[in-house]
Amino acid sequence: MVKSSRKIYAALGVIFSYIVIYSFLHGISTDIPNNYNAHENAIATSSSSDDSKPIIILDAGHGGVDGGCSAYNGALEKEINLSIELSLKSILETFGYSVEVTRSTDTSIFDPGIVGISKQKKSDMSNRLALFNKYENAVAISIHQNQFTDPQYSGAQMFYTETNPLSQPLAQTLQNTFRNKLQKNNDREIKNAGKDLYLLYYSKCPSVMVECGFLSNKQEADLLLSKGYQKQVALTIFCGLNDFIRTNYKSI
Ligand SMILES: [Zn+2]
Repeated sequence: MVKSSRKIYAALGVIFSYIVIYSFLHGISTDIPNNYNAHENAIATSSSSDDSKPIIILDAGHGGVDGGCSAYNGALEKEINLSIELSLKSILETFGYSVEVTRSTDTSIFDPGIVGISKQKKSDMSNRLALFNKYENAVAISIHQNQFTDPQYSGAQMFYTETNPLSQPLAQTLQNTFRNKLQKNNDREIKNAGKDLYLLYYSKCPSVMVECGFLSNKQEADLLLSKGYQKQVALTIFCGLNDFIRTNYKSI
């Protein structure tokens, strides 16, 4: 009885996820091209050969003693990053992707026994990079929130490096998806971070850092702190990522 109830709840969960994503794709955005249907595309993806289907690596920035930046009310970036990462993982797995995450709790992932914050930070970044480079065929997304001294600035922005030639088109696809589906007035351009972003610079697979928005902007911080908007951000990243994979991984 218990097992069959669990199965029913699991099935209902999957159906609910489809409904939420379908509503998102067809409800919020009014300018989706006629030939674009990520819902159907994603189902096709999950039923085709997995030979060249990349593993998705998700990184929730910061964690543990490293809170990242903070909002006006003291809320920390690390918590928003984790929430979006876990929502995105759930959506990707619903659509048949294999996903690994750098962290699934509020923790720093430095090696045991390392003492001192700077050494712990170095070990933490090294372990995140090791996961990015663990597989021959992977795509990595690092999730962060932005901050600036002038509170007027808002909007998502993608960062990439030229280490892997597919990182730039991945960043552009994600940036376009944010503009088309979530932030119509977002005129930000993708940015080549060069050596400034260690994780991206040394990552061998296509990798993008998604700065989802500015915690220094009160209006956007309020959105980013709400569970509903965090799920919308996760769905937006999913749509862009799925679009990128269907375009660039030919056997899918
Ligand atoms: Zn950050």
